[in-house]
Amino acid sequence: MQFEEFGLIEPLMRAIGEEGYATPTPIQEQAIPHVLAGGDLLGCAQTGTGKTAAFALPILQRLYNTKTDGPRVIRSLIVSPTRELAAQIGDSFAAYGRHTGLRHVTIFGGVRSGPQRKAIAKGIDILVATPGRLLDLVGQGVVKLDHVEVLVLDEADRMLDMGFIEDVRRIVRLLPRERQTLFFSATMPYEIQHLADSILRNAVEIRIAPEAPAAETVDQTVYFVERGQKHLLLAHLLTDEAVSRGLVFTRTKRSADRLTRTLRESQILVDVIHSDRSQSERERALDRFKKGHVRVLVASDIASRGLDVDDISHVINYDMPEEPETYVHRIGRTGRAGAAGQAFSFCGIEERCYLDQIEKLIRRPLPATSDHPFLSPVPRAAKAAATPAPTGPAMANGWKKPLRRNLLGRRRRR
Ligand code: AMP
Repeated sequence: MQFEEFGLIEPLMRAIGEEGYATPTPIQEQAIPHVLAGGDLLGCAQTGTGKTAAFALPILQRLYNTKTDGPRVIRSLIVSPTRELAAQIGDSFAAYGRHTGLRHVTIFGGVRSGPQRKAIAKGIDILVATPGRLLDLVGQGVVKLDHVEVLVLDEADRMLDMGFIEDVRRIVRLLPRERQTLFFSATMPYEIQHLADSILRNAVEIRIAPEAPAAETVDQTVYFVERGQKHLLLAHLLTDEAVSRGLVFTRTKRSADRLTRTLRESQILVDVIHSDRSQSERERALDRFKKGHVRVLVASDIASRGLDVDDISHVINYDMPEEPETYVHRIGRTGRAGAAGQAFSFCGIEERCYLDQIEKLIRRPLPATSDHPFLSPVPRAAKAAATPAPTGPAMANGWKKPLRRNLLGRRRRR
């Protein structure tokens, strides 16, 4: 498919050419015609798939074609969970809309609101915002949302993770009921599906699988281990100096904090980021990790996307992610730019269903190793086939090549 086939206006086609885009990405192919036709959309896609253009181009076209000579009012609102993403979306509107004469402003917290107020007061067509700052400025009467025709909620699952869902509901209540809504989320946990159901009307659903499911450059290994022994397994793996920069994911903020304390007690240089930490604490932790002042960063999923640190040697899934797409996001933090990376996943007995979902998504089994001292009981049917964890000398020599998981009998039982 070609961009010409969408019937996009000349100012947009010119900008696309200047951006150097030759053909639409899969999400653009599927979303653009539908959004141009005015329909609601539920897009299950992550950043990096070209989804910003998938919504920005049709929005710009709609606003351009219905421009009036009257004063500018906010006709499209894009809500983003983080300032980084908001800034990125704002840049995309600037790039794609550069020949349209439409104006946008990006607002987020953590900086003075004066310049943002001034920019809004000049009159804008499009507002890109994080939820907190948006509600502040609405409360002060600076932002008026009663002319919004198109709402975009981007990275909705991250809004949930960051505790913004109530804010999002409040924002939606401030908008005209008659509008077009575009809802994007990389993963679809129950709360997000529920939120989508409550605000979308006759939406078309588009699912874009991650481009390269589970980065090819990442060597992936599963460790079957009981929940109560995971911290011991982690400490054991960290005795290997090859883990030079390890990113450890936990499912909850509490377990992130608890694990961080335990690692500190073992004299491991570690920091933690999750959504209960302030922006400056998060930035400081990230900076220390980037500079190598700490060897391990413990994170809840807030960090699995958008985290751009070079040379992460290992991603460790201390808890298996409940959403298989999250697995792909998490391990995508290592093995970047062609470098080799390792991903270890600690899988408790109660987490094996998550492993099944991941394998379905990435369309292949993950190799498991029994080559560690904390191997959890192997399923009964497979016991005879399992290789016992090596002792003494084998461990001292480091780890052996991971065993294929079908040695543990999982595949055969299917
Ligand atoms: P996004 O998922 O919107 O963050 O886009 C990811 C990257 O892909 C951005 O750097 C875009 O500039 C780029 N991009 C978006 N659409 C296309 C396209 N059709 N062809 C080439 N690059 C694109």
